[in-house]
Amino acid sequence: DFAFSTTTIALLGATGSIGTQTLEVLRAHPGRFRVAVLTAQRQWELLVQQAREFRPAVVVIGDESLLANVRDALASQSETSVQAGPAALAEAVTRPEVDVVLTALVGYAGLLPTVAAIRAGKTIALANKETLVVAGQLITDLARQHSVRLLPVDSEHSAIFQCLVGEEQNPVEKIILTASGGPFRGRSAPEMERVTKAQALKHPNWDMGAKITIDSASLMNKGLEVIEAKWLFGLRDDQIDVVVHPQSIVHSLVQFEDGSLKAQLGLPDMKLPIQYALGYPQRLANQFPRFSFLDYPTLTFEAPDRVAFPNLELAFGAMRRGGNAACILNAANEIAVAAFLREQIGFRQMSDLVADCLARVSYLATPLLDDLVATDAEARREASGLIKNYELKFKN
Ligand code: NAD
Ligand code: MG
Repeated sequence: DFAFSTTTIALLGATGSIGTQTLEVLRAHPGRFRVAVLTAQRQWELLVQQAREFRPAVVVIGDESLLANVRDALASQSETSVQAGPAALAEAVTRPEVDVVLTALVGYAGLLPTVAAIRAGKTIALANKETLVVAGQLITDLARQHSVRLLPVDSEHSAIFQCLVGEEQNPVEKIILTASGGPFRGRSAPEMERVTKAQALKHPNWDMGAKITIDSASLMNKGLEVIEAKWLFGLRDDQIDVVVHPQSIVHSLVQFEDGSLKAQLGLPDMKLPIQYALGYPQRLANQFPRFSFLDYPTLTFEAPDRVAFPNLELAFGAMRRGGNAACILNAANEIAVAAFLREQIGFRQMSDLVADCLARVSYLATPLLDDLVATDAEARREASGLIKNYELKFKN
């Protein structure tokens, strides 16, 4: 029996889907984990409730106008310091007692705190895939320089990571990422013109934040995951395949040079990959529900429809182009998803907006961190400008 000491965690985005499920995992293993940092953007009441339960050294509320609310609510909890804003977030992850930073915040906002955490030598449990989409080369180089591990939390990437344990000397031939296909699987391109926000927000297998739920419906999530996988596992662009598997039981596969495939299976429950990343290399015993083949007698696989779902090609294209292309794709997509959720543009127009931004924003072959920050800002400006025209077409 190994004796594992306590792991101290900074949880960024504690109030979200991954954040709250992470806290469930920690509750299931009392004594094994400690929480040093909890952060949220706007859901301050839930953040306060979490802070009362887990008693971290720091809580950070992203939205500075909510600082007083959180301070007042936690005034009697003297061991917890309350901070606000993005600079405080990047600072909190560097605290000496922190072992692992779990990035469960959504979007580009994950980039700078992750950079700060790597520079401070912290292990990264990475849920925030946008970080690797925006700055995969830079983040993986930085992690290597600081001997920092990037442990995947995304279920597909956790599956691949688990398949690679014990295969250190064996090159990967390719990986196959599974995709549920989302709520619009099987719809034709013309049918996709008419889908609504309410339909897009209903994912068949997973209960997730709004942004990733829309990304799953548009297959942009799979596109982002392809890029995430390239960087996490050091693959060439042509080593990554996608297959649609609506039951979300086979979480992904690795194919080796002898033609053998390894897959990782389980119920679609994010607590499993979260727990694997936090416990790694240990598998922690738990009482979470078990998978039974008898409940899933049929597992099916099909090709993704790249015509009805153009985002997959857009993401593969941005990956092949390299440089700041995936950063442009990500920023444009974040603006597109926000506009779709405000019912300002249609579902298919999200892809048009991403394609238009990729064509317009200046391409850089070897961007540094500052260049990526500037690219993100430029792509957001460009996308926000374009949306006005899209809006007119959408309303007509
Ligand atoms: P969510 O919207 O449910 O939660 C996001 C969290 O981030 C919240 O705590 C929010 O307060 C915080 N946040 C939002 N904007 C922020 C900002 N600008 N600065 C700092 N904090 C901010 O999102 P989620 O579904 O939990 O997803 C989180 C990340 O994990 C995403 O990158 C997503 O792609 C990835 N992921 C999620 C799932 C899932 O099942 N939900 C699965 C795989 C990967
Ligand atoms: Mg995933």
